[in-house]
Amino acid sequence: RGDSAVADRRVDSVCPYCGVGCQLTYHVKDDGILFVEGKNGPANQERLCVKGRFGFDYPNHAARLTTPLIRRDGVAKGLDPDFDPAQPLTHFREASWEEALDLAAQGLVDLKAAQGPETLAGFGSAKCSNEEAWLFQKLVRTGFGSNNVDHCTRLCHASSVAALMECIGSGAVTASFMQAANADVVILTGCNPAVNHPVAATFFKQAAKRGTKFIVLDPRGQALDAYAHLSVRFTPGADVSLFNALLNVIVSEGLYDEDYIAEHTEGFEALKAHVAEMTPESMAPACGVDPATIREVARLYATAERAMIFWGMGISQHVHGTDNARCLISLALACGHTGRPGTGLHPLRGQNNVQGASDAGLIPMVLPDYQPVGDAQLRAAFEELWNAPLDEQPGLTVVEIVHAIHDGTIRGMYIQGENPAMSDPDLDHARAALAKLEHLVVQDLFVTETAQFADVILPASSWSEKEGTVTNTNRQVQLGRAAVSLPGEAKPDWWIIQEIARRFGLDWRYAHPREVFAEMKRGMPSLDHITWERLEREHSVSYPCPADDAPGADVVFSDAFPTASGKARFSPTLPLPPDEPIDADYPVVLTTGRQLEHWHTGSMTRRARVLDDLEPAAVASLAPAEARHLDVAPGEPITITTRRGSITLAARVDPAMPEGMVFVPFCYAEAAANVLTNPALDPFGKIPEFKYAAARLSRAATA
Ligand code: SF4
Repeated sequence: RGDSAVADRRVDSVCPYCGVGCQLTYHVKDDGILFVEGKNGPANQERLCVKGRFGFDYPNHAARLTTPLIRRDGVAKGLDPDFDPAQPLTHFREASWEEALDLAAQGLVDLKAAQGPETLAGFGSAKCSNEEAWLFQKLVRTGFGSNNVDHCTRLCHASSVAALMECIGSGAVTASFMQAANADVVILTGCNPAVNHPVAATFFKQAAKRGTKFIVLDPRGQALDAYAHLSVRFTPGADVSLFNALLNVIVSEGLYDEDYIAEHTEGFEALKAHVAEMTPESMAPACGVDPATIREVARLYATAERAMIFWGMGISQHVHGTDNARCLISLALACGHTGRPGTGLHPLRGQNNVQGASDAGLIPMVLPDYQPVGDAQLRAAFEELWNAPLDEQPGLTVVEIVHAIHDGTIRGMYIQGENPAMSDPDLDHARAALAKLEHLVVQDLFVTETAQFADVILPASSWSEKEGTVTNTNRQVQLGRAAVSLPGEAKPDWWIIQEIARRFGLDWRYAHPREVFAEMKRGMPSLDHITWERLEREHSVSYPCPADDAPGADVVFSDAFPTASGKARFSPTLPLPPDEPIDADYPVVLTTGRQLEHWHTGSMTRRARVLDDLEPAAVASLAPAEARHLDVAPGEPITITTRRGSITLAARVDPAMPEGMVFVPFCYAEAAANVLTNPALDPFGKIPEFKYAAARLSRAATA
């Protein structure tokens, strides 16, 4: 940490990592960031976690892209173990912006002309601003000519959004995580906030100390167990069995809120009948929780005056992820736990702008603000706004695009800020697809694993170098401000997207992101009463916002839900097995996720010095008994094998892990977890089952 006295400037912005959306202040000297401090934002109150506080120097990494690159003739596409991303000129040559943009766009334009719009697809990024997400999806829809646009929501909370849209008519949270302080009971399930939403976890800890009873439901242990009134570990993949048993208790013991159900919901009688046989006794063998504990959890939640449910990707990343979320919504509706302070449903969003990027339309089946592409009236409004015809067919999702490349349907892609060569399931299959593309344009900060497959690489802007809005997990729209200059010839993402659009014949003339935001407001009612100028003044406004001078709503749906009837809907579910149950050959459950210090595929945090020093090497976490069984000591290598491949990495012995399970973070390219993962999809959210694959472990030879 430097001394604030020597900083030239202080620039207020937002953390570039998780969906908590902590506001921060960059302390800048000589166009470089000296250090970062937490600002008094609504989601962090001056707090920052290790990533927000120390992960600011990745834009200065030696491997930072500062000029456009074009693949050299004859260099094969793919991951080359000898390739050094800091020395990319072995595989690529430098180019002017004019040459690189012309080549990038022409390859896509030619494919569209020769083979049709359905041959192109784009991945935008939840690491970028709302304005950049808006422009990217607009380019794909009006330039490429299809709805083949998606982003990492497809790998995190798309199933939660599918369930929320179906049951309550809105995909965002019904209450901010700060409302936990007003709750009597809070259920945390399928999430590990101390690791993945660390500043939110600090507010949960405070709430617990002040008397809120936390119930942690998860197959793994976690730091918040120490603050929990009740910590319940259940069998991996048995979420629906457990949740239906909770509903059975609430129904059979008459703990539901009759008045709320009558006034605000539809379909309760069907739910009652559906869960009638799913008693704690009948569900206990599947979910591994004793009936008395199931009853205790159900009674605690149902009889609380105010209660909330928070969930993470342990809920969403299953083939039954949408069913999991439907169950949680049913629990809240049955007990009347929405629409009041201290109540609500809150899927903790992952990336800093995954809420905003989804709102802005980086989704293949909906236009901005979740307006279905198949609705002629809604589509016509966007056709008028953008002065261009729009396709009525929903586009392909992330994993579907990989399959479509293999079957020859998709031939060209534009990937902005995403790293599917690390983040997609069944990586060998996904990487083979990237290698098969006839034309790939990648826009990023570094030659990522994905960029190693590119024909053209366009050097983009990091968060501390750009202006734009982002929307956090609480629905708070916040303004990011440029603290330092772009290095070399790198450009703002919005500028690059506009240059590609112009080469598709689109007459775009945006001079600043605020002009894009003004256009967004014309297509997104969710942004009513939120203006760029207001954000410059107030830094953060929640949507929905009722007036120009009103604070946005922290808790929503007090009177009615945004559905046709104004009522929410129960959606009963049946327990389904994982797509790939464990068996004698693959007897261990593999689950994947993030670490506190590293973010997603590691493209930023592994290039941040302090963070990489803290967690420099790939590890697999397993229970002490599992390590004893394998005869490995902490730090010794193990090999994990699934039906799709093997990786070898160091064992980390972790008492929070249950026996029969191994956890691998997906940020390490040298032992890429997603080589192992199962691409089977939830049929509604189209999310892969990252949280459950059948695996076997073995002790590996030490070097
Ligand atoms: Fe950044 Fe999330 Fe940490 Fe806040 S909690 S500092 S938003 S990574």
